[in-house]
Amino acid sequence: MINVTIWNEYIHEKESEKVAQVYPNGIHGAIAEMLGKSGEYNIRTATLDMEECGLTDEVLNSTDVLIWWGHMKHSDVPDEIAEKVRQRVLAGMGFIPLHSAHLSKPFVKLMGTLCRSKWRENDEKERIWVIEPSHPICKNLPEYIELPMEETYGERFEIPAPDELIFISWFSGGEVFRSGCCYKRGLGKVFYFRPGHEEYPTFYRDDITQILKNAIEWAKPSEGPVPTLGHFEALENVKDKFEGQDESLKKHTYIK
Ligand code: ZN
Repeated sequence: MINVTIWNEYIHEKESEKVAQVYPNGIHGAIAEMLGKSGEYNIRTATLDMEECGLTDEVLNSTDVLIWWGHMKHSDVPDEIAEKVRQRVLAGMGFIPLHSAHLSKPFVKLMGTLCRSKWRENDEKERIWVIEPSHPICKNLPEYIELPMEETYGERFEIPAPDELIFISWFSGGEVFRSGCCYKRGLGKVFYFRPGHEEYPTFYRDDITQILKNAIEWAKPSEGPVPTLGHFEALENVKDKFEGQDESLKKHTYIK
């Protein structure tokens, strides 16, 4: 089973009546509930108010894929925790930052750019176009998904060019946004997914859950070989090839 940890700053849901009505168990609770229906995952949740943000070494080291929602309190996540997340991604953990987590410390660190964008809260429609139908994260999706109301994000989105851009969103106010961005960082995979403003029930949708499930499957650690790093002895007996040759030949001869 894939070990999925869902991290949420969990502030809006406690401070806003409106948000609490949409997500009575928190955004992390809603995502856990939807993903949990299939019984395919070991799901844990972690929040900002927990010790070490709920991301102890034990939790991080046993997480295959980390989902992250944050907005108001990115700066309250200690640099040390953000760095641990980055290191875990480089070592192979999958990372799925959602919506306003484009400004979360771990994502910004992994991207190396500012990651800002335009935004507007105006109850506009979002149409998410699937532009790479053969990508694993697009499995079982229709050509586009419409969210009747979402927060509007607009380009420019200050990210490095994604390794694979799989979704583009259009909003009824006219903006467009790169809303599904895939990156490899070290041995890990990162999928930024745009929707999920706290005032809309986006995370209760089956199509959004399907995307998260596909993304978990894509981002989970690979089963490839563990690379050897640092100084390493030659696999072939290189020295014998030069036996009997004079010094000048040794210097200029490539070994075939
Ligand atoms: Zn938002």
